[in-house]
Amino acid sequence: MAPQKLLSIEDIVHPFYNSQERPMGRHEAAAVFDWMDKQAKLLGLEKTPELWHVEHDLPNAAGGFAKHEGRKIGRVFLTRGMLERVFDSPNLNHHVPAGLKGLLGHEMQHVSEMMSGADGMAMRKFPLFAFPLVAMTGYTLYTKAQDRKIQDSSKSLDEHLNAVTEEQQQKMRESGRGDQVDMLEWSKRMALAGGVGLVGGSMIAARMSLNAEFRALAAEVRAAGGAEPCIEVLHKMEKASAELVGPRLQQWTADLSKRSFMDQMSEFYKLVRHELRASTMHKHPSTAEQINHMRKVAAEELGQGLAH
Ligand SMILES: [Zn+2]
Repeated sequence: MAPQKLLSIEDIVHPFYNSQERPMGRHEAAAVFDWMDKQAKLLGLEKTPELWHVEHDLPNAAGGFAKHEGRKIGRVFLTRGMLERVFDSPNLNHHVPAGLKGLLGHEMQHVSEMMSGADGMAMRKFPLFAFPLVAMTGYTLYTKAQDRKIQDSSKSLDEHLNAVTEEQQQKMRESGRGDQVDMLEWSKRMALAGGVGLVGGSMIAARMSLNAEFRALAAEVRAAGGAEPCIEVLHKMEKASAELVGPRLQQWTADLSKRSFMDQMSEFYKLVRHELRASTMHKHPSTAEQINHMRKVAAEELGQGLAH
């Protein structure tokens, strides 16, 4: 597979929804944009991210960036289901509910990290799909470092490996492939880990991904001014999703059983592809973990009691 670009919002939203989306204007969400302006400054973002509306029933949100003419444009997505089912279609010109602030705060934190290229979210997909490439590159870096070690034994293998990797990264930047330097960083780590590199790499990725999620949860709590509004949103999302997805899956199974074998197989593969994406992209902590983390942040950073 080709070297990965960093995860953009197109990668997140399209595979899931494949549905209509549009940028929202200030005229329809003035209060939200005012709030996002302030939040963007707090997060050190150069520009307030765009706010996009996704035409889908399921309540969900995403944050990331799109690339336009070499520039990264921060974007936060909200589905129609989120606004209708979780927030009862609020008037976004007048008021931003605390839970929505939390949700946007969460996604804006992801945007902020993705824009700076330091985001573990990007790694959710990255190592799984690019593992063979990363492993091969890691092996190449390791071989080069070993050759140098034979010529110059005053430095350790690790030092040679670091030097070789930095040189290659520099070459990439010079040839306009700066967005691929992360791939080399992963390859180096894998080379450092040696035989257990493959396992180690995926564990690091999972950890980074989880850490990114916890940082976003902390931002969510700060933005909402406490854990409770965020927890309420979480519960409403779960309830609405279960109500929607359950019957649809039943219907899908019923429909499928009426079709020919070939039809069934192609449908099956479509579902597997979808599920595979969903499972690699949706490495969110469990609800209980999310709630624990939000309560902890609220207690530690906002000075609120744990006993809710
Ligand atoms: Zn998140």
